[in-house]
Order: sequence, then C-alpha cells, then structure tokens
Amino acid sequence: MSRPRLAIAGLTACSGCQLSLLNCEAELPLLLERIEFQFFPLACSPVRIEGCYDAALVEGCCSTAHEAELLRELRDHSRLLIALGTCAAWGGVATLRNDTPRKELRRQVYGRHPLPDDDVPRPLSAIVKVDAVVTGCPPEKHELLALLGDLLRGNLPVRGTAPVCTDCRMRENLCLLQERGMLCLGPLTLGGCAARCPSLGVPCEGCRGPAPEANVAEALELYCQNGFDAMTVTGRLRRFCPEWNHDQRA
Ligand code: SF4
Ligand code: SF4
Repeated sequence: MSRPRLAIAGLTACSGCQLSLLNCEAELPLLLERIEFQFFPLACSPVRIEGCYDAALVEGCCSTAHEAELLRELRDHSRLLIALGTCAAWGGVATLRNDTPRKELRRQVYGRHPLPDDDVPRPLSAIVKVDAVVTGCPPEKHELLALLGDLLRGNLPVRGTAPVCTDCRMRENLCLLQERGMLCLGPLTLGGCAARCPSLGVPCEGCRGPAPEANVAEALELYCQNGFDAMTVTGRLRRFCPEWNHDQRA
C-alpha cells in the first residue's frame, strides 16, 4: 500500500503547531514508516511544491501576497487542505489589531522607513477552501496524532464541540469564574485541552477558539453575575478569534 503524501507548511505564525508535531518524538519513527512528508520546509529539504499531495497541513494566518500565493499553490496540489491551529483556523494573535489601519500600524512600528505592503491577516478559509480544522494554540499532541491517523485511514478529523468547562468539570477542578471571580473563558472556548490552564489555577484565555456547543447567552449572564460586562468578555475572546460575536457557534 502506498504511503499518503503530506505537505506541511507555515504562514504567519510562531511555528509552534509544526513544532508540536516534531515533538512527537516517540511516534515519529512509526509515522515516517507510514507517511511520506514530501514538503515540510521546517524539517527537511527539498522545499519545492511538486506533484499531488493527499493532504496539506497549513499553520498560521495569511498576511502577505507571497503567503496567499503559497496557500493557493498548496490548495491546487492537495486533495485535502487542513487548517492547523488557531491562527490558521481563526486568524489568531496576528489579527489582534485588524481594526486599526495597516498603514498606521506600520508607521507606529517602523516609523517612516519604507516597507513592502502587507495584507490584513486572515484565516485560511478567507483565501482558499479548507476541508478540516484542528484548532489549538498549539493543538494537543493527541489531536495531531489523531489527525494523522485519520488521514492514514482516508478520513477527515471529527471536531469536538464541547467547551473547556466540560474538560474542567471532568477533572473536578474548582471553578475559577464562580468560586474565585476570575474571568475564565472556558464556557465559550472549544475543549479538548483537558482544561490545561484552569487545572493549574490560571483562567482559560480562549486559545482554542469558539465552542460549537457553547451556550453563549447563559455564559454572558454568568459573566455579568460575576461582574464582567459583555464588551470585556468579547474583547478577550477576540484576541484569538477576531470575528467572534455573540451569535457565533464556530
Ligand atoms: S474554571 Fe473556567 S473552564 Fe473551569 S469550569 Fe470554571 S469557567 Fe469553566
Ligand atoms: S484552558 Fe483555555 S487557554 Fe488553556 S489551553 Fe485550554 S483553551 Fe487554551
């Protein structure tokens, strides 16, 4: 049986999602036996896009004309295109200042020095068709391995729907929102991280994007009861998902 051919690429991002894959050290020998990593510039050469890939896993948001070109090329050469991580799925932290004109941002950061134009950072789905999303900042190791397992079997990954609170309750954590009055975004954020932060006493920052099963109206009511207004909550959620709004279910 021929091995699936994968392309793995990064756009505007920190490379954390790709590094999380490379950090699966115990599993890498088996993965290399089963999968052909044909295009993976972070890890190996050559770096030319050639032939047809079974899937392209793309990290990061798209913020330059060059990245848009690379993304379209990967789409054209791949049967499936997967958005890997929160930046690819929702835009992530690079989109934090999308409400300020780019020209003004560039002037504030670089002064009067001329720089090539960049585009407004956008999630992959704003440029090309995306077949599946594995969110997370970065995605959890078990999610990356499950994704590769799904691709090996010819399937697309099935996304979770429950919020971080579900994970948190399963770990029998003290609720930081209700018991400590902290602004925890767990009720509105997609779970799957085993409530990593609340389990350590740190409120959820919403890094995995919106949860489809979130009861937004109830959550906002709960925030209000604990002294946080909807605007504050929305502002926090938009750090990772700039398009977040009260009607959003992902
Ligand atoms: S601590 Fe946060 S994630 Fe955990 S149950 Fe409370 S609101 Fe939900
Ligand atoms: S608890 Fe929230 S901030 Fe922490 S990893 Fe999970 S989704 Fe991200």
